[in-house]
Amino acid sequence: ARHIEKHGFQTEVKQLLHLMIHSLYSNKEIFLRELVSNASDAADKLRFKALSDNTLYGDDAELRVRLLIDKDANTLTISDNGIGMSYDEVMNNLGTIAKSGTAEFFSQLSGDQAKDSQLIGQFGVGFYSAFIVADQVTVRTRAAGAATDEAVEWQSAGDGEFTIKSCEKAQRGTDIIVKLRDDSLEFLDDFRLRGIINKYSEHISIPVQLWKDPEPESSEEDGKKTEAKPGEWETVNSGKALWTRDKSDISDEEYKDFYQSIAHDFDEPLLWSHNKVEGTTEYTSLLYIPKRAPWDLWNRDQQHGVKLYVKRVFIMDDAEQLMPTYLRFVKGLIDSNDLPLNVSREILQDNKITRAMRNGSTKKVLQMLTKLAKDDAEQYQQFWDTFGAVLKEGPAEDNANRERIAELLRFASTHNDDSKQSVSLDDYKERMKDGQKAIYYIVADSYEAAKHNPALEIFRKKGVEVLLLSDRIDEWLMSHLPEFKELPIQSVTRGDLDLGELDDAEEKQAQEKAEADFADQLKRFKDALGDKVKKVRVTHRLTESPACIITDEHDMSTQMVKLMEAAGQ
Ligand code: ADP
Ligand code: MG
Repeated sequence: ARHIEKHGFQTEVKQLLHLMIHSLYSNKEIFLRELVSNASDAADKLRFKALSDNTLYGDDAELRVRLLIDKDANTLTISDNGIGMSYDEVMNNLGTIAKSGTAEFFSQLSGDQAKDSQLIGQFGVGFYSAFIVADQVTVRTRAAGAATDEAVEWQSAGDGEFTIKSCEKAQRGTDIIVKLRDDSLEFLDDFRLRGIINKYSEHISIPVQLWKDPEPESSEEDGKKTEAKPGEWETVNSGKALWTRDKSDISDEEYKDFYQSIAHDFDEPLLWSHNKVEGTTEYTSLLYIPKRAPWDLWNRDQQHGVKLYVKRVFIMDDAEQLMPTYLRFVKGLIDSNDLPLNVSREILQDNKITRAMRNGSTKKVLQMLTKLAKDDAEQYQQFWDTFGAVLKEGPAEDNANRERIAELLRFASTHNDDSKQSVSLDDYKERMKDGQKAIYYIVADSYEAAKHNPALEIFRKKGVEVLLLSDRIDEWLMSHLPEFKELPIQSVTRGDLDLGELDDAEEKQAQEKAEADFADQLKRFKDALGDKVKKVRVTHRLTESPACIITDEHDMSTQMVKLMEAAGQ
């Protein structure tokens, strides 16, 4: 057996601990949500592993988590009989932060406690949140399948170090012994704990149990007798997976609570959709759209928010095959009746059932958004301001739903004279001039640059609306959106601009005359500029500026060239 060892925490863990102790004191109770959620994860992992090795359960197959209060020692113990941890797992999981994106997380911290604590909330504070209330945390754990003397004890006061040693443990699983600080003794109160469990852990799919003390036999003066009751473990939550229940039996409150417990979000969700799908593929989905963006939304490798279950058994987080990347802000779960329980990411990769569930769920999310846009423009605007730029990845990624996504897009435009992205393509279409045969847009580095581009002059003169695009993604978006409801979508800085019936015959003649008159000058310009330009010609696009730069119909636009350069191409 190994003797006791002392280790320093990874720098990031030290920072995180410091932050937690100093930023989260106003919301201490979340430590319990996190520890119970870890216990529930540990049960899920054991169930999953036992699918291929049933002996892992031993004689203890009723998975649960128990909370035990010790008022003499000032400790609260959270005890599960889940998968447990080996020595190496304890070293890795409880000494470092293994999550990708941790560095980015730290770079986003502002020092503003209120903001940072929101960030921590989204990040999922996890195990280390025990130190919000503890001056010492002891973890005793035994991995499923390991012998009683192969258990591990980890201990830390949250300062900068922890100790680790081997020990004996009779039962499989993990005990987290939280020694409460003097300012946190409220968590020794049975009633308080019940309240927290109801609030955060109602939808944990294993029983959460509290010890109920024995009641002695009593006899009262009027002769009534209450019988003696032995002490017992009492289950406090419903322990039943919410999504398996009937929609009509679930209240909005329950849906919201469930969201908060699976999404680790303090906020309520904006929208949700709960569906039981029957037929060739059978599954239940419960999908949420959050109100706020997660801190790592801009990371395309960010974890997707959709969990996969098979017949109520949790299989994996972040099932990226179940939701397209441009909907990566969607949280929730899909529970399949058709997939095998031993499904792996590789199997999901190229699978008819996965595809059907993904298509169905994508449609559901788009429908939910379409309905919101129709019913509540203000809320939709809030959604768009938060997640619009992600949705703009849609037309490129998901050609099948292009039209539907296009209806959801919002842009700034010359119609509004304000940088807010609030004009839909349908709005634009409605306002089109007689004889106008295309939707016009311009892409620039900023809203101001777009708005003042000389290429807009002719459109202003003719009263034709132009969409003003300036998000990084916009050029990419427009290259995958050649048309909308049979109308071509055209850049005002590209190619030979044909305003069709918007040009009158007189103007056309004037244009031709000007071309002839200026032939000599054009040649001199071209000779002077040489290879720097492809062509110099007379234009009628400009009404105030003397000259502007445009790109040829089939060349890369100037914006695209900049993007490619930025990407090192
Ligand atoms: P997260 O749960 O998001 O992974 P945590 O900080 O909550 O992050 O936990 C870190 C890791 O420690 C978990 O991923 C898990 O591997 C391990 N762990 C924590 N609590 C338990 C537990 N009760 N049983 C088994 N493993 C645990
Ligand atoms: Mg956790």
